[in-house]
Amino acid sequence: MSDQKPIDLRSDTVTKPCAAMRKAMAEADVGDDVFGDDPTVNRLQDRVAELLGKEAAIYVPSGSMANQTAIRAQTQPGDEIIAHQDNHIYHYEAGAPAGLSGCMLRLLPGAGGRYEADAVREVIRPTNSHFAQSRLIVIENTHNRGGGTCWSLDAIENIKQVALEHKLNMHLDGARIMNACVAKGHTPSAYAKYFDTVSMCFSKGLGAPVGSAVAGSTEMISRVHRFRKMFGGGMRQAGVIAAAALYALDHNVERLAEDHQNAKRLSVALANMPHVDVDVEMVETNIVYFDVDPAYSTAQQVCDCLHEDGVWMLAVSAQRVRAVTHLDVSTTAIEFAIDALHRVLSAKPAE
Ligand SMILES: *Cc1c(COP(=O)(O)O)cnc(C)c1O
Repeated sequence: MSDQKPIDLRSDTVTKPCAAMRKAMAEADVGDDVFGDDPTVNRLQDRVAELLGKEAAIYVPSGSMANQTAIRAQTQPGDEIIAHQDNHIYHYEAGAPAGLSGCMLRLLPGAGGRYEADAVREVIRPTNSHFAQSRLIVIENTHNRGGGTCWSLDAIENIKQVALEHKLNMHLDGARIMNACVAKGHTPSAYAKYFDTVSMCFSKGLGAPVGSAVAGSTEMISRVHRFRKMFGGGMRQAGVIAAAALYALDHNVERLAEDHQNAKRLSVALANMPHVDVDVEMVETNIVYFDVDPAYSTAQQVCDCLHEDGVWMLAVSAQRVRAVTHLDVSTTAIEFAIDALHRVLSAKPAE
């Protein structure tokens, strides 16, 4: 039995701040960040800029705001953004590229949320008054809907060449960039150097309760700063939460490898279970997707049965289930989740 029921694998956003993180928050020096006076926020911004090898960074309330302020800062209404068809900015940000920036999305297919430089080249619009203006390329790394997959530096480099040829900007949705760095052994700046703007989240696997950041040139971040205010994201004594992000960068990066091992362990176990299909090779970081055979049951039904055993996963479509590992899920808890899956999947399908 596990001592940590429920085992919540719905997302890596469910983590709760530990006692030491809360202590850092309680003790944070604060000031009014809209006046630029919060020393803890300033420390975090400097730290992120350095980590990502950029001139500047800005703290924002959410990953969506990080992406959308970066998009707004680099586009005009009527511009076109090239992205993967499974990207977060397209599916999970409430239509914000259209709603907040007046932009169209030009979506590309590709396994694991990745696409090739040639595919980008093919959709870039010629300069002609009939066409939207291609302006920005967005890459998501790790790729959430793609299965927590990582981009290679070579693939990004090839796309950067196309961007340079056509004078397009590049944005990295790096909500889980630290997962990619830990999995691939790259430094954050090795990934970030290709991009004009980079977003990252502290509230996913890094375990902080709130917050994200955008990094880029000083000029770019001053534009992002203006849109953060316009979008309602100017915060006051935000050092209280920025302290949690600093704590996360100090303590919760290297341990992401444990989450990746737990996800791998879960996927390998699933590969030997009946009525489900999983691609173990696609599990590069902390996200596992598996498909339930429709002849057996539905994703929701399997999640409901697991829920009764104290294991929470997310039905993301009729047949697809997502499980995400994180710092509040130990290897013991994963073993318990595997046992629960065994029990549920060896039962007769529910009527
Ligand atoms: C979670 C996530 C975001 C940001 O989401 P918020 O809920 O706004 O913090 C952005 N991109 C990706 C890939 C994500 O997984």
